[in-house]
Amino acid sequence: MRGVFRLDVCGTLGHIGAHMIRTAFTAALALLTSAVSPQTAAKAKPAVVARPTAEPAVEPKVAAPAERITFAQCNVEGPFIAMTFDDGPHATQTPRLLKMLKERNIHATFFLVGQCVAQNPEIAKQIVEEGHEVANHSWSHPQLTKLGEGSVREQLQKTHDVIVQTTGVTPTLMRPPFGAFTTGQRTWSRAEWGYKCILWDVDSLDWQHRNPAKTESIIMANTRPGSIVLCHDIHKTTIDAMAATLDGLIKKGFRFVTVTELIAMHKEAAPKSKPVKSLTPAEAAGAATSFEDIAKPAAQ
Ligand SMILES: [Zn+2]
Repeated sequence: MRGVFRLDVCGTLGHIGAHMIRTAFTAALALLTSAVSPQTAAKAKPAVVARPTAEPAVEPKVAAPAERITFAQCNVEGPFIAMTFDDGPHATQTPRLLKMLKERNIHATFFLVGQCVAQNPEIAKQIVEEGHEVANHSWSHPQLTKLGEGSVREQLQKTHDVIVQTTGVTPTLMRPPFGAFTTGQRTWSRAEWGYKCILWDVDSLDWQHRNPAKTESIIMANTRPGSIVLCHDIHKTTIDAMAATLDGLIKKGFRFVTVTELIAMHKEAAPKSKPVKSLTPAEAAGAATSFEDIAKPAAQ
């Protein structure tokens, strides 16, 4: 246990601290081994041998990555997914969905259209009261990449304001209609409203085929841990699919979180390993020789 503790301390102190401790430790051990019986010295030996191999030789010096603004899915440890519902709140379909989510104790994320919030403020409030996340999906669902900055600002600001005024919640996420938002717009909306731009990796295409069985099968076939699933709570056929879809996902072991919760669990994937270095002719010859040595059939 003491050995483990020492390694933790070295890892925290970094290279210089670790070096100082190692030097002091080695000196103290030299004194100790010269003063004690051979039997005790032999017992102490493994600790000296074990330490350098257990401690990283070089501290990784990787520059902190730029903050990620856009998420289409997350890398998570565990079966967590985020169900997302766009274009509402809808007067009749959203309450149907809310009931299904409540019955299953599932929290989802709703990308709200500002003018629909203005039309259905009570439903927007109910979404928040029942523990779901609300986010900005523009005021009237235009393609934002086709608009000037003033119009984009109006689309997002009006929606931001109506969500705050209606629900008391300040949204921190936005989803551009049709997923269309330039890199510049993403950076700007992050600076203006603190928004992360949320896309999706599972598209149910529910708006297109309007087929409950198809909605269910697409989601069931494509959802992975870390998935952000795109649906629309304005279509009856989507809500018709949800009971079976949610039950199917539960059966598969998925657990449901809001997008913000999913992002909080996100870990950037480990950097790709370096490309294999080409060998010089001499190295290649050496490698071939040693390979032949290794590959030689064992002597009978
Ligand atoms: Zn939409």
